[in-house]
Amino acid sequence: MSQTEVTQFGEFKLIDHLTEAFSIHHDSTKTSIGDDAAVVFHGDQDLLVSTDLMVEGIHFDLMYFPLKHLGYKAVVSNVSDICAMNGVAEQITVSIAMSNRFSVEALEELYRGIKTACDIYKIDLIGGDTSSSQKGLIISVTVLGRQKPEKIAYRSGAKPGDYIVVTGDLGGAYLGLQLLEREKLIFLSDPKITPQLDQHKYTVERFLKPEARKDIISLLDRVGVKPTAMIDLSDGLSSDLMHICRKSGVGAVIEDQLLPIHPDSKALAMEFNLDPSVCALNGGEDYELLLCVDPLEYPKIQYLPGFSYVGEILPAVEGIKLKTGSGKEHPLEAQGWVHF
Ligand code: ADP
Ligand code: MG
Repeated sequence: MSQTEVTQFGEFKLIDHLTEAFSIHHDSTKTSIGDDAAVVFHGDQDLLVSTDLMVEGIHFDLMYFPLKHLGYKAVVSNVSDICAMNGVAEQITVSIAMSNRFSVEALEELYRGIKTACDIYKIDLIGGDTSSSQKGLIISVTVLGRQKPEKIAYRSGAKPGDYIVVTGDLGGAYLGLQLLEREKLIFLSDPKITPQLDQHKYTVERFLKPEARKDIISLLDRVGVKPTAMIDLSDGLSSDLMHICRKSGVGAVIEDQLLPIHPDSKALAMEFNLDPSVCALNGGEDYELLLCVDPLEYPKIQYLPGFSYVGEILPAVEGIKLKTGSGKEHPLEAQGWVHF
């Protein structure tokens, strides 16, 4: 029998392919695969469950990723998926597999980062699993969260006319990674050269020490706005927006000129001869939120810091487009993070 390479499928087609034969046996399973977290009926508040895997050499490089930051980021990326459902994260389990290259002290450092995140985000570590691996470090975190059913925001709720709003600024994590990769190569070619990172502390921290936008979820609750749809920006705006469009059966237009980009990210993009907008559209791991908001609700967040209007949801026939400064429209291509 001929064998098919997984790269022929791509991540999302592979997930669909492997899971399509599964049926749901329990009424308590409200939403399964396909959103930032699964939703399980659990009394007056639904239970939200999400999981993420980080593999050394694929998701992180310990040459420049301090173990403490890695532990912190492993928690944050999971909390972010609960935020993307408009929920509140409460517990995690942490599973690790490591080769004999890792000492107890190294693992203590990893867990210091996990603990810092648990303290900041008020998360309880309630379990996990520990194993050895033949090569490298693997970390898997599962997060549990809660929200009232009527407050949960799905990827599927966007309607034509909704405003597309993003939080914070975009592209920073990607540019921070580019800088770390460049300095790593310089260091490897001549270990006497000290990496030059101070000038770009902001962007480097966007990659090494991202935050989940729990603050935005509280703010939305305070001002009484429930997004019609929401996703966290882990793979890059273009591919994450496509998930919303596919699940909601809609199109969208993003205005290039309105993308929020930090001055440090702009400066670094110039240094790398990259278009800052392209970095903002395709760079992953910013862990900001993309919200679709009913225009009638929008005034409630319009003037709050940290929200940027970047475009509008359109009928599906319009496709997914990028409008440039000159008013031209191009189809938006998803060039976000490719996992394999
Ligand atoms: P996110 O980027 O928000 O973490 P992913 O892109 O990793 O989400 O996953 C998309 C959806 O596919 C999620 O609902 C996730 O639970 C599901 N999923 C991913 N990998 C698998 C798998 N191997 N088996 C079953 N479901 C999976
Ligand atoms: Mg997500």
